[in-house]
Parts: sequence; structure tokens; C-alpha cells
Amino acid sequence: MLVLKFGGTSVGTPERLEEVITIASQHDEVIVVVSAISGMTDELLDIAKTIKMGELLAAKKKSKRLSDRFNKFSSRLLEDSTSIEAARIWGDGLFAIINEAIEDRSFVNIEATIVSLGEQLSSYLFHLRSIERGLAFTYLDALSFMSLDKNNEPNMEGIRSDLSALIENETSQRFITQGFICRDMNGAVSNLKRGGSDYSAALIGAAINADQVEIWTDISGMHNNDPRVVDETHAIAHLSYDEAAELAYFGAKILHPMCVFPAQTAGIPLLIKNTMAPNDAGTYISDRTSGTGVKAIAAKDNITAIKVKSSRMLMAYGFLRNVFEVFERHRTPIDMITTSEVAVSLTIDDDSKLAAIVSDLSHFGEIEVDQDQSIVCLVGDLIAEANGYASQIFNATSDIPLRMVSYGGSKNNVSLLIDSQHKAQLLNALNTHLFTSQTVSNV
Ligand code: ASP
Ligand code: MG
Repeated sequence: MLVLKFGGTSVGTPERLEEVITIASQHDEVIVVVSAISGMTDELLDIAKTIKMGELLAAKKKSKRLSDRFNKFSSRLLEDSTSIEAARIWGDGLFAIINEAIEDRSFVNIEATIVSLGEQLSSYLFHLRSIERGLAFTYLDALSFMSLDKNNEPNMEGIRSDLSALIENETSQRFITQGFICRDMNGAVSNLKRGGSDYSAALIGAAINADQVEIWTDISGMHNNDPRVVDETHAIAHLSYDEAAELAYFGAKILHPMCVFPAQTAGIPLLIKNTMAPNDAGTYISDRTSGTGVKAIAAKDNITAIKVKSSRMLMAYGFLRNVFEVFERHRTPIDMITTSEVAVSLTIDDDSKLAAIVSDLSHFGEIEVDQDQSIVCLVGDLIAEANGYASQIFNATSDIPLRMVSYGGSKNNVSLLIDSQHKAQLLNALNTHLFTSQTVSNV
């Protein structure tokens, strides 16, 4: 069995959705996972926000506009009047939930309920059109198998048993389901956070022990550098799970970082493919790694660096634990760390608790905060051990002030923290030094 996930742009127009059905129908045993039609998730969130603000008339108008957009989309996609009517009934049923939320002041869980409609709309259109084309993908309701545990983490055992119960007795083994959406342990509608459809696909793959999970997007794989900033980047043919996870986390937007873990645990390869260029090889991610050296560079913006400077740190133990506890208390993950004898620098991505963190840290010493920083992350195999990479990296950065350097934390990653204004310059300089002036055995 394969799992194929298609993102919002891949199902963004009737023509694209048609193409996606063609791609998926090349397999007889397949679960297709779709995102909402591009833009819909944002619009649904906006409607939920409008309702919460009490702007009920505005919410009604927005909901009507979105429902019209859905009906227009389906009448362009579908051919027979019976399936157009089926789509309309399905859509009306879902948009009625929004009206209920508008009218019922005691409606709970408004945001998660409303945002779950996007995937339910797109997947149903896929289902209806597949029937019209004689391909009959069975509609699977993700809300009846995708569940979270008490920590709001995927309940793997539950997903496995509920999903197999749903699919094992079906004669056709072609299914269409929704990414992103799930239920929490109390049965309330929830989701896997923005961009979570990739994660859904990997969880489904792990639950059914799929042969492969394919993430279909609008670029031919993970690139060796940021194509928006650097010319002549290319897709990387092969990455290990660890390399892909680092790249996904540090900026390569095309893969949700959480989706690597379930695939890695279950030993299921991930393949990133391009819906617009289905014949391109894409990027294959497995437990094998191929080649050595730096394979890719990615950058993550909007990073905040925090430095705690204290003479109390000198020769002391327990100091770092106290510092880390502050971040734990404020549930804020730390990305990079560097230390000297009298100072520690850390970076965070989520600065929503910054003021409280700084106030708690100020008990330990002097605090410096730098915002608008970027982490530039170099990913590959054996970076830290391989002779010569350090000097190449530092040569490339000779004109750029480095705020932090993290080297040797893992054999897959070297990270540099810089002020974001230098990002384009650094990505290009690293590209020249690492990918053009040496032979890279990465493809
Ligand atoms: N539709 C959701 C989002 O826009 C999930 C996804 O596309 O992966 O975040
Ligand atoms: Mg995505």
C-alpha cells in the first residue's frame, strides 16, 4: 500500500485536482491524503476569528463567499448534474456548521471545527470526481480514525486499529482521506497544526505499514539551497531521515518537520514529488545516506537570540539547568545553544513568551536580546568530522558577522546565526564555496 499526499496548491484548481486524480489512479492500493484547496484554511480561520470577535454579519458574508467559491469549483470539476448536486449538498452540510457557530453563542471549539471543513471539502470533491471517472476512491473520514492522546500527540495504537478496521473489508483498496484534521482524546475536533497534512500522511503510512509515503508538492524535491535567494539550485536525489528532518526544520518549507519521525520509526521511505512535473525524480528519504559532505543549505528567519551573561556561571554547575528551566516553564523550545565560560547564548523561534522569559532570566545575569536573526543550517553527512569543511565554511563567511556557530552537535548539521540582513549574501557565498568550487558527491 502507498500513501500519496497532495498539498493545497496541488488541488488548488479543478485542472490540478484532475491531474492529481490521474497520478493517484496509477496505483491500485493507495490512500490519498489531501490538504484543503489553497487559501481555504486561511479563509476558514479568518471566519472563525470574525465570529469570535462578534462580527456575525461579516462572518456570514465571508462564509457565503467561500461556499460560492466551493460550488463554482465543483461545477467546473464535475460533469454530471447528480455529482454536482452531491457536492452542493455536502458543502451545504459543512457550511451549515459555520452558520450554527454564528448563531449559537454556546458553540464550543469554534476554530478547530471550522478549520476542519477545508480538507473535508477538497477530499469529497476528489471522491466524487474519481467516481465520475470510473476510478472510485472510497471516502475515508479522518475524524473517525486520526486521534490524539492526552498529551495531544498522535495516538498511534488507536490510529492503527481504527484505520485498519475501516479499510480491511473494502474490496477496492483505493481511498481518499483528509490531512491535518483529527480528534483529541475527548473526541473534540482538533488538528495537527498548520501544514500538518504531511504529518497525517506519515502517520497513516506508519499505521498501515505502507511501502512508501509520497509527498506531492509544487517543487521537484528538497533543494540544495534556497531557490528564492540563490540561482541554480537543484533538487537533492537522496537524503537520510536525519538530514531531511534537519532541513525541514531549518527552513526548507516543503516538508513538515514532524512528518519525518513516524516514517523513520516505521522504516518507511518518503518521496517528495512534483505534481507539475511528475516525471522528475524528486527527493528520496530513507535510512540510507549517500555521499558525504554538505548536501544542502537552508535558512530559517524570525529567530530571536538571547544571551545570558553571568560571572556566577564561572566554574559553577547547575547554572545551565536553571537557564533551561526557564524555557521549559514557558514551553518555548530552544534551537541553538553556544556557551562560553561566562555566558550562554540561545535561540528561539517562538517569541510569544519573550518578555516573561527575559524577566525570569534576568535573575541569573545580564540579558541581551537580538531579534530579526536567521539560522543558516548546513546539512549533510559527516560534516563535523570531515576535514576541511570548517575552513570552507569560515572562508565563505569572512565578510559576514556571525552571531553564533554551532558545530559538532550532530554529524548532520552545522548552524550559523546571523542578522537576517546578511542572509542572501551568506547563502550565496556558501553556495559558491561549497557547491561550485568543490566536487560534491551528493547526487
Ligand atoms: N490545510 C492545512 C494548512 O493550510 C494543512 C496543510 O495544508 O498541510 O495548514
Ligand atoms: Mg505543506
